[in-house]
Amino acid sequence: MNPSGFAVAIDGPVGVGKSTVAQQLASNLHMTYIDTGAMYRAVALFNLRQGTDRHDATAIAASLPHIEIALTPAGAVLLNGEDVSHEIRNQLLAEYTSTIAAYAPVREKLTQQQKHLAANAHVVMDGRDIASYVLPWAQVKIYLDADVKIRAQRRYDELQAKGQPADFARVWEETLIRDERDKNRAHAPLVRTQDAIYIDTSNMSPGEMLEAITCHVKNKLVRKDG
Ligand code: C5P
Repeated sequence: MNPSGFAVAIDGPVGVGKSTVAQQLASNLHMTYIDTGAMYRAVALFNLRQGTDRHDATAIAASLPHIEIALTPAGAVLLNGEDVSHEIRNQLLAEYTSTIAAYAPVREKLTQQQKHLAANAHVVMDGRDIASYVLPWAQVKIYLDADVKIRAQRRYDELQAKGQPADFARVWEETLIRDERDKNRAHAPLVRTQDAIYIDTSNMSPGEMLEAITCHVKNKLVRKDG
């Protein structure tokens, strides 16, 4: 595919702050934000509700034709037409999602949809495999990173703010486990591509992250137009 769109691909490990910054960037630049993690979470939610064991790859693959995911312009995530934006955010589901995201049929279905969404649009897409696999043609590729303890703290604070009970040691352990799975799976693992701009956000506020990425995107846009 030789797309006519403009894409900013933002990848990185668990809890690095991708979604917040990607959403804000898209809004500021009047681009469409595509949260690919939310799509994996919606597949997980469908299966969790069915009571499917997350380790049963065959059953998860068989569920795929029954799942339709849509992202609305307002940022809601629809699973077969139902708004599941809030339900997909809980900790239990994060663990389930990280397991089923390793299955090739799940990745193939969602990757195809993500490529399609970006083909003729202006998008900011965040995830794990966007620069490497979903949109290798993206004009701007950003890899966000941060010390694991800081990422665990950010996730913990987020859960606290949402009123979800959390234990810091547990959140830290889950962060490590999910990172391991994402980096070591056979299909489209989390990698930092050579052409991606690496930003260590350990000591950056969300505002500073946004500023740094905006600067890279604007540089690219100026070069494209000029
Ligand atoms: O980004 P978020 O934490 O919402 O993603 C949930 C899970 O979905 C991740 O832990 C990861 O395993 C998976 N994921 C993925 N590829 C993506 C986006 C998310 O494997 N592009």
